[in-house]
Amino acid sequence: MKIRIVGGGPAGLFYAYLMKRDDPSHDIRVYERDAEDATYGWGVVFSDVALAFVRDIAPELYEAMTERQEVFDEMAVVHRGVQVRLAHNTFHRMSRIDLLGALHAHCRAVGVAIEFERRVDDVGDAFADADLIVAADGANSALRSRYAEQFGPSLDERPNLLAWYGTTRLFDPLSLIFRQNPDGLAIAHTYRYSRTHSTFLVEVDPATFERAGLARMDEARSMAWCEKVFAEDLEGHALLSNKSNWFRYTIVKNRNWHWKNIVLIGDALRTGHPSVGSGTRLAMQDSIALFEAYRECGADVPKMLEAFVRIRQPGSDSLQKAAIKSCEWYEDLAPRLPLDPISFAYDYVTRSGRVDHADVRARDPELAAAYERLHPERVF
Ligand SMILES: Cc1cc2nc3c(=O)[nH]c(=O)nc-3n(C[C@H](O)[C@H](O)[C@H](O)COP(=O)(O)OP(=O)(O)OC[C@H]3O[C@@H](n4cnc5c(N)ncnc54)[C@H](O)[C@@H]3O)c2cc1C
Repeated sequence: MKIRIVGGGPAGLFYAYLMKRDDPSHDIRVYERDAEDATYGWGVVFSDVALAFVRDIAPELYEAMTERQEVFDEMAVVHRGVQVRLAHNTFHRMSRIDLLGALHAHCRAVGVAIEFERRVDDVGDAFADADLIVAADGANSALRSRYAEQFGPSLDERPNLLAWYGTTRLFDPLSLIFRQNPDGLAIAHTYRYSRTHSTFLVEVDPATFERAGLARMDEARSMAWCEKVFAEDLEGHALLSNKSNWFRYTIVKNRNWHWKNIVLIGDALRTGHPSVGSGTRLAMQDSIALFEAYRECGADVPKMLEAFVRIRQPGSDSLQKAAIKSCEWYEDLAPRLPLDPISFAYDYVTRSGRVDHADVRARDPELAAAYERLHPERVF
């Protein structure tokens, strides 16, 4: 098959790799707008479950992804300056650039052609004889916008504002830090992803953003505001910027996942939310599903794309639903802020509505017991 892929992020590269590894006679080319060593952001996290998918289908890539990782079984919620540890929350972390580097190397080894610094905003002549065109060009997909009428995207821009920083302060375990300050509330989603660096994603609600005057500050002043708010947590370490401008997260959905021989995958198709750290997982699972659809239907593209939707939609919808619930929790924290640190952490653990007290007891008996002591009036 002749396959053209727009976007060299995790979704596009992983799909290219799986297809070419399966059959070297495929003609596969990836077009990536950025340079090879460019990356936006710092580290990414994967839950245990997320990495199991990669291990099952591409153990050689899994090995490259995990060789330098240390795994922690806990995470922490810091509220009112008190850290509450949550057991059995295993996350694998790595830098986004290392993940892309591993994917580049694997793609090259099997013969995928990658063209860097090549932006594609429409499927012109170069794509005319392609059997399949994969739009893996991220949350702001140009191809999805170009054919918006056909794909029927819905773009739900959420109210909170985010800025994605790095820091040399090593946050182990992965921590969620809630800091009340004179301007309102700021949240840090932070975790170490390498021997030297942590991701430090700051989230604020619109009222805090307004009161702090963040809209009128340049990048350096915004970063200084965040450093001041999280001074106790950063322990003297600075925040680091990498195009770390404030942005609002957009929940992307599409009525149609494919049109003619063009298919959307990854963030172009549907986004999760950083608070559940699932975007890369969702993207790579799309790649697997599209590959499986090919294995089921061969080069019959219309059949293959129908199979892709059938295989992928239920899992994708359910994870996105959980991501939206999680994102809403962060947008409605005011009534929860008076809670003591244990009750607050417990509320966080049960926020999706899919975890009840019996689950907390099984997964984290210490937290369940602490919560029961604080709430003797409740019947468990
Ligand atoms: C603040 C933040 C924190 C996040 N944290 C995590 C996390 O901890 N864990 C996690 O799993 N996920 C995280 N994510 C989500 C994750 O980064 C994405 O969900 C994931 O990278 C999606 O993969 P993708 O390949 O679909 O898209 P992308 O990674 O966005 O890749 C799309 C690629 O397409 C290229 N491109 C775009 N337009 C064009 C064009 N017109 N022509 C050619 N190329 C183009 C881009 O340069 C990019 O390389 C986070 C996202 C954000 C915004």
